[in-house]
Amino acid sequence: MSTLQITDLQVSVDTEDGPKEILKGVTLTIDSGETHAIMGPNGSGKSTLAYSIAGHPKYTITGGSVTLDGEDVLAMSVDERARAGLFLAMQYPVEVPGVSVANFLRTAKTAIDGEAPKLRTWVKDVNAALEHLNLDSTFSARSVNEGFSGGEKKRHEIAQLELLDPKVAILDETDSGLDIDALKVVSEGVNRFREREGKGVLLITHYTRILRYIQPDKVHVFVDGKVAESGGPELADKLEAEGYESYLKVNA
Ligand code: ADP
Ligand code: MG
Ligand code: MG
Repeated sequence: MSTLQITDLQVSVDTEDGPKEILKGVTLTIDSGETHAIMGPNGSGKSTLAYSIAGHPKYTITGGSVTLDGEDVLAMSVDERARAGLFLAMQYPVEVPGVSVANFLRTAKTAIDGEAPKLRTWVKDVNAALEHLNLDSTFSARSVNEGFSGGEKKRHEIAQLELLDPKVAILDETDSGLDIDALKVVSEGVNRFREREGKGVLLITHYTRILRYIQPDKVHVFVDGKVAESGGPELADKLEAEGYESYLKVNA
């Protein structure tokens, strides 16, 4: 059993005009075995939440806390966060020219486990993960994210999720730029991960489309740097029908 606890999190981003307050007190508890969806309009701070938990240097924590099983995540280095069991798939993944997918995955796995994976089982595991995501075996020789299509980037992320086996996965706009076939493949990957014992997922999305394939246990509406409403899967249906307008009016 693990728990990601976000309590009254306040975050500013460094801009050219100085610090700008983005997160205004976010509180969320994600227990293992649960999938939470965060939905909200563009600019509401969803990615800021993901980047802050990931430890991106541009985001300054001005208040509140984030803990994983009671450990202070915000005090950890980015590497320590991964070793503690956090996985963060970013809306805009970086290119790593000259580093192959195979080397990248092996380095990441070694860093997280503290020892290199056994070569024979590892190669089998990598090939299986790529196959699950409909990526052919030549994919592992390519440079990370270099020239990847939107769909290849997202499928590579889910292959990482499958191989690195974190406790809690935070997936930011995993559905963006995917055609329907890629969306299904990616969703199936997330659902396979959810079926493993003791996993938590925080799924960040603007659109309800992916929630037809990945059914969340809880849905949070994110507006203006805060959770405006929380509910069950029925809240996603309401958003699909009505959009975010009613929330924005209240905040205008
Ligand atoms: P969302 O993911 O919900 O679309 P973001 O977290 O990306 O929202 O952005 C929230 C707000 O913070 C927006 O107004 C955005 O312009 C601003 N913001 C986020 N990151 C930066 C940054 N690195 N520099 C300047 N402004 C930023
Ligand atoms: Mg956005
Ligand atoms: Mg975003």
